This record gives sequence, C-alpha cells and structure tokens, in this order.
Amino acid sequence: MILGIEKYNKIVRELIRKSFPELKKSIVFISYIEFPNCNHSASVFEFFIFEWIIVFEKAKNYSKDALVGMFAHELSHLAIIKKRNFFQKIAYFWSWPFSKKRRADFERRTDIEAVKRGYGKERIELNNLILKGKTKEQLGERRKKGYLSNKEIKYFMKKYRK
Ligand SMILES: [Zn+2]
Repeated sequence: MILGIEKYNKIVRELIRKSFPELKKSIVFISYIEFPNCNHSASVFEFFIFEWIIVFEKAKNYSKDALVGMFAHELSHLAIIKKRNFFQKIAYFWSWPFSKKRRADFERRTDIEAVKRGYGKERIELNNLILKGKTKEQLGERRKKGYLSNKEIKYFMKKYRK
C-alpha cells in the first residue's frame, strides 16, 4: 500500500494548497487500515497538535475524483473543527457518542463546506460509488446520518457558484 499512501498524500497536499489555507501549518498523517466489514471510506481525528486521516479498505478502488471528494470531505471536517475553541471541542467530543442528531448535523455541514470550496462534482462521484446497489432502506439510513444526496449537492453547487 506504499503507492496508495503516496497517492493519498499527494491529493491531500494539493487540496490543502488550493482550498484549505487554514490547514497549511497542520501536520496531517494519513494511514490505510484494512478493517473487515468497515462501512466507512475514511475517518479523521484531531489530536490538537496533529491530525490523522484513516483510509479504510472500502476506498481502495475509488477513482481519483472520488478520492478527491472523500479527502475534501475529511479536510472540511478539520476546517470546521479548527474554528472551534478548546472548550467547544471538549464539549463536542463528549456529546459525540450520545447524539445522533449532532453527528448528522456535523456531516451535513461538512458536506456543504466541501461543496462551497468547489468539490461538488467530486462529492457526487463519491456518492455514486457509495450509493451504488444500495436498497431504499440503506439510502434512507445514509440520509439520516446527514450526508447530502446528489440532488442536494447540485443545489448547493448552484448556490455557491462563484
Ligand atoms: Zn464525515
């Protein structure tokens, strides 16, 4: 997976340079973990002095655009977290396991942020891969988690077009 990690690093550095100036000084580690039956493509953690993005097996065969969409989403999480002060971070951290609604709001805000920064097309590409072959119930579950549908992404792309 050396090559994969190099590719991920390149995409993330490029995204930060172009669209996430507030993360220019951040130390962002990227790991790839094979974790059986993991439902996620990637996750991000903030440890105050460095950030850690974990890419899961599901993302292994994603196209370049889908990877850009995925990392733009993860970096948008960080950009939003960076705006919070220490106490807001702690409060959010503690509420995390207990509030589905808060997590869903956070995912929605994050998707909107990624679209605002110009990654709507890539976010749709990612959606197309994630949603392929999903049943109506599974799609409903995903909506409840806060992620934008393609229709919503297109709406926000229009709204924030410069
Ligand atoms: Zn997310």
